[in-house]
Amino acid sequence: MSDKAIVLFSGGQDSATCLAWALDRYAAVETVAFDYGQRHRIELSCREVVRAELSRRFPRWGERLGEDHLVDLGVLGRISDTALTREVEITLGENGLPTTFVPGRNLAFLTFAAAIAYRRGAKHLVAGMCETDFSGYPDCRDDTMKAMQVALNLGMERRFVIETPLMWLDKAATWTLAERLGGAQLVELIRVETHSCYLGERGTRHDWGHGCGACPACELRAKGWRRYREASTA
Ligand code: ZN
Repeated sequence: MSDKAIVLFSGGQDSATCLAWALDRYAAVETVAFDYGQRHRIELSCREVVRAELSRRFPRWGERLGEDHLVDLGVLGRISDTALTREVEITLGENGLPTTFVPGRNLAFLTFAAAIAYRRGAKHLVAGMCETDFSGYPDCRDDTMKAMQVALNLGMERRFVIETPLMWLDKAATWTLAERLGGAQLVELIRVETHSCYLGERGTRHDWGHGCGACPACELRAKGWRRYREASTA
């Protein structure tokens, strides 16, 4: 039981790095994703490619990679009015939070992931929340994660551990972590096959990967890639 993990794997750069991190560490790893009507649903189709390529290029990880779970959380999209689920402009809202903030999203994700972990006998919940480069989302905070861990353990009478390996890394350091875990081959896989763009644009491929190049997620990813490349060629 103690050596099994469930990874919240959306198909983006962060969660793909978390998946590699978990595969490097735990004997058995399963993945879960949530379909909540996000505009960038294309990320969900990237997941299968990333899972397959991780197994193919890293056979030792392929042996550990188990089932994938796709949870329909369409209700979350229906009760939300945000730029991730509606054609709303991506900007800073009156409350100081970006309009991409989906209230309750990560709380719901962790609750459902824990319900799956309960059934599957997994102790570790691995997720890509990050406080360093975050967009101000309160549900990405380390304190929120710790409070969730306590709530889940009390409410399910289990001893889950929420692991957030990216919590104190910026985007450049996330690329460095990928390099440490799987070398240039993993960096390349994540660069080409994952998806972070909020608008779900897949067409253009920049040096940092696919995306519109203008939304906050693309800007963050591009900036992190540039800083990572500068540091590795310096
Ligand atoms: Zn974009």
